Amino acid sequence: MKLETTLIHGAKQDTDGSGIMPPIVLSTTFERGEDGLTYPSGYLYSRYDNPNRHRLEELLAAAEKGTACLSFSSGLAAALAIFQSLRSGDHVLLPDDSYFGVRNIVEKLFSGFDVTYALCDMSDVNATESAIRPNTRLIWIETPSNPGIKLTDIRAVVALAKKYNCFTVADNTLATPYYTNPLSYGVDIVLHSTTKYLGGHSDLLGGALIFREKNERFEFISQFQKTGGAVPSPFDCWLLCRSLATFSARMPIHSSNALKLAEYLEEHLKIEKVMYPGLKSFPQHELARNQMNGGFGGMISILVCGGRDEALKLCAALNIFRHATSLGGVESLIEHRRSVEGEHAWSPDNLLRISVGIESADDLIADFEQALEQV
Ligand SMILES: *Cc1c(COP(=O)(O)O)cnc(C)c1O
Repeated sequence: MKLETTLIHGAKQDTDGSGIMPPIVLSTTFERGEDGLTYPSGYLYSRYDNPNRHRLEELLAAAEKGTACLSFSSGLAAALAIFQSLRSGDHVLLPDDSYFGVRNIVEKLFSGFDVTYALCDMSDVNATESAIRPNTRLIWIETPSNPGIKLTDIRAVVALAKKYNCFTVADNTLATPYYTNPLSYGVDIVLHSTTKYLGGHSDLLGGALIFREKNERFEFISQFQKTGGAVPSPFDCWLLCRSLATFSARMPIHSSNALKLAEYLEEHLKIEKVMYPGLKSFPQHELARNQMNGGFGGMISILVCGGRDEALKLCAALNIFRHATSLGGVESLIEHRRSVEGEHAWSPDNLLRISVGIESADDLIADFEQALEQV
């Protein structure tokens, strides 16, 4: 089945199945069989598993063409489970503009555990190779990156990982399974903040790990999910399954709106630079065409002429775009990134990150047109 069909029909309802939509199973505990030992429903206790979570994990595994999925209460809870599975002495390679929460995990939460890290420009394969150390165990890929919109050549980095005996995780939150399937390029684990495009409506928090192989690493990381208990609630799982049904209808609109807006902004005299993989002027446009499946996603970063004041003025002058963090919802959002990045801010002061929604592209462009006149 293709992605569109998979996300609607790709998992069985494991209740009696007469409802077209599954019920939300709130019970935390499930009855044992007559023999007192077995669990006829297949469920024991909802920290381990629950029917809504089971259905969600089947859908996400199928969407990413993986063999297994573990869902979490947030994207960073999913990321944390990966880091918890490392051993002391391990070294991690991260992109220099990786999502700042991931960097906070290694830098702050693991500072006392002898897990070290290095940052590198992962859009440069040679720079990536020279950053690998003898104890590097994990290479963390994020493509396109957030908010730098830099692409990583997944095949090339996977080849490096094989050469140096590392495993790879790809944060696929921005590209989504609609535009990239990292597992098919040999990545070991895909990470999602399902809070973003997969959830799609800015009303749920969630994360997921999808595994290429159901191997020992999967078994070990699943202990952090099942024993650690940072799991999504049955309602969040149900809501996310509901969102997944329309994901394939939403995603191409995000992408085509973003391309139209990026092309408009690129021509505007008050915009210094537009970063969007779909633009012909984008330095890695060829890689994007080669690696992304017929579209470029819904995220744009722009540099506004001037500095912080002009950038903030533009945010304030927009009417449809709301000035807020996060991304991937049906509504368009814009954000002055530097002011939320904290200590190791990567973004220049005139950078605005735009999450292009699924409104009319004409209305979105008109909104920028009137706002840019006020800057
Ligand atoms: C939002 C985000 C995360 C973190 O996910 P949460 O659901 O907020 O915990 C990780 N990676 C990327 C690329 C994100 O955009």
